[in-house]
Amino acid sequence: MGVITYLDHAATTPLRPEVAAAMAEVHAAALGNPTGSHPPAQRARRLLEEARDEVAALMGREPGEIVFTSGGTESANLAVFGTLAAALAGSPAGTWSGESAGVGDRPLVLCSAVEHPAVRASCRAAGERWGVGVVSLGVDGAGVVDLTALAEAMSEQARLVAVMLANNETGVVQPVAAVVDAVRRRSARPWVFTDAVQAAPFMDLSEATQGADLVSVSAHKVGGPVGAGVLAIGSQVPLSPLQHGGGQERERRSGTQDVAGAVGLATALRLAARERGASAGRVAALRDRLADGLLAQIAGAHRTVPTRVATLPGHLHLCLAGVEREELLVALGDQGVCVSGGSSCASGALQPSHVLAAMGVPDDLARGSVRFTLGWGTSGDDIDRALSIVPAVVASLRRHA
Ligand code: PLP
Repeated sequence: MGVITYLDHAATTPLRPEVAAAMAEVHAAALGNPTGSHPPAQRARRLLEEARDEVAALMGREPGEIVFTSGGTESANLAVFGTLAAALAGSPAGTWSGESAGVGDRPLVLCSAVEHPAVRASCRAAGERWGVGVVSLGVDGAGVVDLTALAEAMSEQARLVAVMLANNETGVVQPVAAVVDAVRRRSARPWVFTDAVQAAPFMDLSEATQGADLVSVSAHKVGGPVGAGVLAIGSQVPLSPLQHGGGQERERRSGTQDVAGAVGLATALRLAARERGASAGRVAALRDRLADGLLAQIAGAHRTVPTRVATLPGHLHLCLAGVEREELLVALGDQGVCVSGGSSCASGALQPSHVLAAMGVPDDLARGSVRFTLGWGTSGDDIDRALSIVPAVVASLRRHA
């Protein structure tokens, strides 16, 4: 394999060596099941609870609010289905019937139009299963959620409001504090869920998610392992579990806990928090150099999000007129430059982006969209290499179009 220039940190980040070392220590420690009572089990429990304490402190939560999961997707499903199931538990059939009550009584979920599929599809599935109405909250041309639309959509029927902290495709940071404020001014009822999966490497979650009732994080987006995540659930939020069994995680997520995964996640979040100030500046400077260089060298290249809008420091989303992104991604991959189209399904096939559609990006521009995401592993050499390869590849594709 030749040189790899990895600019796809929003898809997954390389495992940090410190995390790998911490997890290897756990794996080598002959631990028991953390629910047991003998010494190996007690050691496992101690490590798990230390990880929980640390994750809680870094997220500005109480340890009892932290539920370890298998990642961002499970956390989103637990947040959506768990809160709605609890909210509907009082109704006769555990579901809402549009025939027995007026349509105006129908419980609602308000979900931003740019949420990750883990959240959007969960809301849609819960809506279909339980007759819950799903209201899509629009965004402006920069991808920022429309607070006026939120205020208008708010009603006594709202049970859950889902607005992510930062978008996976564009990196746009949402005004979560203002969302919480807009919701609470109208009603004490709906819980606010914010998906902080992309924000975790760069933002202080305790500050940025303050007031949100549920917050999700995934380890592999922050230099930790795939298969570990968290859902922070405010102690005031009733939640029905999705997984039933031994009652682990205070009855909210049954199943033997992954101690190494929890330690890996806690280590990754600690490193991100420790380096946040320096790394956000370093990564943003590299991202800006990449943006300036590409925009100068590629005619018809547009920055999808205006620079006045707050984005994560590692995200650069461009629309390149006259280029098909699938061809571009393959051609760049052949040269070892790893980037993404921003939205792909499990088969790897690119799908039209619901995020760009919600922003009103015209189809012909969206077809040439490409996402560069930098992270803890990105160096100046990576940027030099991308700048020497990407414009030439774009020119060659345009010549052969
Ligand atoms: N939420 C966001 C914003 C994401 O970017 C992702 C992953 O791409 C997820 C949720 C899902 O996380 P996981 O891959 O851990 O299931």
